[in-house]
Amino acid sequence: MPTHDVLIIGAGLAGQRAAYAAVDAGASTAILSKVHPVRSHSNAAAGGINAALNPEDSWESHAFDTVKGSDYLGDQDAIEIMCRQAPNEILELEHMGVTFHRNAEGLLGTRAFGGASAARTYYVADITGQALLHVLYEQLLKRHERLDRYEEWFVTSLVLDDDGRCVGAIARDIRTGTLETFAAKTVILASGGGGQVYKPTTNALICTADGIAQAYRVGAPLMDMEMIQYHPTTLAENGFLITEGARGEGAHLYNADGERFMEKYAPNKMELASRDVVSRAEQTEINEGRGFPDGTIALDITKVPRKRILEALREIVNIGRDFAGTDITREPIHIRPGQHYFMGGVKTDIWGRTPVPGLYAAGEVACVSVHGGNRLGANSLLDTLIFGRRSGEHAAEQAATMPRVSIPQARLNDEQRWIDSIIARDRGGRRISAIKEELGQTMNEHVAVFRDQEGLDKALEVVRRLKEEEKTAYIDDQGAVFNQDVLAAIELGYMLGTAETIVLGALERRESRGAQYRTDYPERNDDDWLKHIDISRNGDEPEIEYSPVTITQWEPQERTY
Ligand SMILES: Cc1cc2nc3c(=O)[nH]c(=O)nc-3n(C[C@H](O)[C@H](O)[C@H](O)COP(=O)(O)OP(=O)(O)OC[C@H]3O[C@@H](n4cnc5c(N)ncnc54)[C@H](O)[C@@H]3O)c2cc1C
Repeated sequence: MPTHDVLIIGAGLAGQRAAYAAVDAGASTAILSKVHPVRSHSNAAAGGINAALNPEDSWESHAFDTVKGSDYLGDQDAIEIMCRQAPNEILELEHMGVTFHRNAEGLLGTRAFGGASAARTYYVADITGQALLHVLYEQLLKRHERLDRYEEWFVTSLVLDDDGRCVGAIARDIRTGTLETFAAKTVILASGGGGQVYKPTTNALICTADGIAQAYRVGAPLMDMEMIQYHPTTLAENGFLITEGARGEGAHLYNADGERFMEKYAPNKMELASRDVVSRAEQTEINEGRGFPDGTIALDITKVPRKRILEALREIVNIGRDFAGTDITREPIHIRPGQHYFMGGVKTDIWGRTPVPGLYAAGEVACVSVHGGNRLGANSLLDTLIFGRRSGEHAAEQAATMPRVSIPQARLNDEQRWIDSIIARDRGGRRISAIKEELGQTMNEHVAVFRDQEGLDKALEVVRRLKEEEKTAYIDDQGAVFNQDVLAAIELGYMLGTAETIVLGALERRESRGAQYRTDYPERNDDDWLKHIDISRNGDEPEIEYSPVTITQWEPQERTY
């Protein structure tokens, strides 16, 4: 049984940053990922990463913008930490080898992003996530003596000991189908978000909420799950993202009547208001009949000089050409709001600790909470790095004080029986893909930019029916080698459990705040709802509790852009 001080589940930016920190703190560390690390979803991050690094900017300004962007649901102690530590993190990454864009003077250059009062987004063209991921991976390769990498291993469950402490995980080697227990003194979940709960989504097929569901199953509370970000600019057909960097560079939004409609909704910030505001504005235009017949509005990037588009936005030139048949340097592209990001996740403190002893979480799987009701663009990469590092440091420090742990063989046998039973299902039930399709469409219809009681009740009913149907859903592949079918079945279970908590949170929060807009409760109600919603599993039933929002220096105000 592989045994380590620190086990990190997930090798995106949060996991890799945690591994780097844990190894440097002296811990024997393992990092495990269901895909090769540089194929993690962080690879898709395009527009950039925020930091108040310019002398005329300040961490306080970044923090205030983040608090306001969160619609005052973000915890201000965590936001302060993130924004204070951002400049050093960017410089450290630069020193590691990230080739951030430089301006004409040769200094690190920025672009504007939504909801920010200064241009503070650092970037590498529109492949920022890829650049960061590759540089961090090189650093991990250099640390091979203290770091074991398990690439293409799929974690199926977390393991607790009899005292309720997390002591490791069980994982399947995707190449061979072998199941193994990984014992560890501390475990960091860095397994990303779950956009695949929705259809369409900007998220890759691997974003199936595994870590969120695994933590929930062992009793960790999930916080603010109702806060699902719809990004304003996604392709209607397939959910592909057109980065906010396009609007940061100067692109405009128009309805079908040729009006630059953001003048009505956010006269000061226009297209660079925060994402919840822009997505609601677009959806209102579409719902009120001012969209195009395909249910979209137009993003006009031709406002940006062609040379600059080709230099700074070359990925979306390719996306426009290959997936929408549009040359964005010459004509507007049709877009609409699409599911993009989970602000909620596994509840943690500012060191990444969850309430389950020994279990940490960082990155999109976690809710620390720096994003509250709405994440500002380019704050997620920052969140992964700052809280990935902090979790790695703390988990290593904790592990240094603890005795070696082990996991009984019986636990592995139980897991093997569960997986074998999925593979052995007969063909009486529905296909996994059919259930997933119905889930995604239901969530996108009823738990989207606008929500109400009737739609949410309907969504809950469908999700609960699908949870029953999932128990008998069958798979085609009964082999051991690269059996993606059985993994898809396990992922479906994670997604359905997670979807239930999203709908329950949205039903519970009877107000409108950030990404949660209830047409039946259209006002923000600080008196009753300036609080987090925590959902835990009590037996098989979800249980809802509340926890206070931490306010350090920014009292809630009316939010306008
Ligand atoms: C198209 C797109 C563009 C974006 N652009 C930006 C941007 O410009 N700026 C910004 O700040 N944010 C951006 N974001 C958001 C940001 O990219 C993500 O929130 C962030 O990268 C998540 O990083 P992570 O490390 O938490 O998770 P991920 O990068 O998703 O990594 C998750 C890891 O967990 C592993 N894993 C998952 N489940 C299991 C399992 N069961 N067993 C083993 N391993 C598992 C995966 O293999 C992977 O290694 C963008 C998001 C999208 C979708």
